[in-house]
Amino acid sequence: MTTIKHWINGVPTMAASTRTSPVFDPATGRQQASVLLAESSDVDQAVAAASGAFESWRNSSLSQRMRVMFKLRELLVEHEETLARLISSEHGKVIDDARGEIVRGREVVEYACGIADALRGGFSDQVSRDVDVHNFRQPLGVVAGITPFNFPIMVPLWMHPIAIATGNTFVLKPSERDPSASNFVAELYTEAGLPPGVFNVVHGDKVAVDAILDHPDISAVSFVGSTPIARYVHERGTASGKRVQALGGAKNHAVVLPDADLEFAANHLTAAAFGSAGQRCMAISVAVAVGDAADALVDVLKQKAGQIRVGPGHRPDSEMGPLVTRAAQERVEGAIATAADQGAVVVVDGRGLKVDGHEQGFFVGPSILDRVGPDMDAYQQEIFGPVLVIVRAADLDEAIALVNANPYGNGTAIFTGDGGAARRFQRDVTVGMIGVNVPIPVPMSYYSFGGWKDSLIGDSAIHGAEGVRFYTRPKVVTSRWPHVERSVEAAFHFPTST
Ligand code: NAD
Repeated sequence: MTTIKHWINGVPTMAASTRTSPVFDPATGRQQASVLLAESSDVDQAVAAASGAFESWRNSSLSQRMRVMFKLRELLVEHEETLARLISSEHGKVIDDARGEIVRGREVVEYACGIADALRGGFSDQVSRDVDVHNFRQPLGVVAGITPFNFPIMVPLWMHPIAIATGNTFVLKPSERDPSASNFVAELYTEAGLPPGVFNVVHGDKVAVDAILDHPDISAVSFVGSTPIARYVHERGTASGKRVQALGGAKNHAVVLPDADLEFAANHLTAAAFGSAGQRCMAISVAVAVGDAADALVDVLKQKAGQIRVGPGHRPDSEMGPLVTRAAQERVEGAIATAADQGAVVVVDGRGLKVDGHEQGFFVGPSILDRVGPDMDAYQQEIFGPVLVIVRAADLDEAIALVNANPYGNGTAIFTGDGGAARRFQRDVTVGMIGVNVPIPVPMSYYSFGGWKDSLIGDSAIHGAEGVRFYTRPKVVTSRWPHVERSVEAAFHFPTST
């Protein structure tokens, strides 16, 4: 059985790790590899490599750093198929979906190819006699990323291309459930000409995370994962003086107004609720059917959910794969059972689904729960599986109030043909990313990704301009180069413009 190693200072290594965690093929339920779980001394080793590489990397030219990013982009295109299969084999998602996350992650590399522009400072000429002011931003040093299982390549790519292009060195602690894509990217970076030590991967669990959070030589931590861990990472990381951005969980509502094109809305809701088996932080997990849209919407959704082809991710005709682990499968089936006990109507029940030839896979079929109330567990908890909850609202006001009362605020969408209603919705919801007739409004790489409320702990969103700000700090320089012929006398009053 393969043991997936760390990647430190440009090479794969066991370091001092002895503990491992199983990596499954979710479609068959079988263990396919083991991944090392780092001890804190292994994290020390990775941070030492990153610290050692920092001085030289921060002094490399912008052109050199951008050339690495251009090359990395090319390699991500060249190896897309291999990477997609690797992701699918450990995560379970279908190959096309894995390709989608590679493309969206690659777009951040494309943004980093133009980092010179994003880093450009300002200059004010002659702010006082013979005095100019300019500003520029510098890297922080060693920065770390801690990432979730559901996008094993895209979410790390939200972080490291920007951190590295701005002159930092990086330690990534990916999810231990699908760790291989991170090592693959480390190899691509090497091929792209990145010096050893600039990008390191340490696999592990809470031990590695805590070692990162407490490490005195790490300046900043980017985290993406569930809200309780995001809160923990933010508290512990900031307590040790680090800059921390921590993106958490979600419960994304799609509001469907009575005037919406139901066929269009239902198609998009179906893909957004059940794609990747609902294991997306921007998945639509709640449909808010407004007014008399409800019954017709439920009928169309039921019909479409029944047509989804569930199967192993590598099979070309599969549209939805399994969940990531047996525990996730059991949790999701438990959530459906609890919802039924609490009075929800199980319109489509995906429990107990068996896929031919893959009977031990972690599959749960698409599921729809109607007449869910805000007090039910199925509404309050992030199920993170292929379960769409339907809540009914009398009008747009009630729908907006529902969205705003929810503790999460990652994404939301409205389906309508009414521009005025859409405008009110986007202005009034307390959510960070909003789609108008777009169900999964993940911002492009040159904007920043981040929710509100419990979906983002800290105050910095990820990638785009906020990413550049997060991984750098500013300097403002006030300089005087007096003209040589003129004598200048020192003045002892507080400097004012002359
Ligand atoms: P998770 O919180 O369990 O794990 C995330 C990371 O934290 C992993 O690297 C894991 O090893 C580590 N971790 C887990 N438990 C820990 C602990 N007790 N102490 C320290 N570290 C710990 O999340 P997950 O199950 O891998 O991913 C799914 C979650 O991520 C969902 O809640 C989803 O909404 C969220 N997510 C959010 C976004 C976003 O942009 N807001 C994006 C993707 C995923």
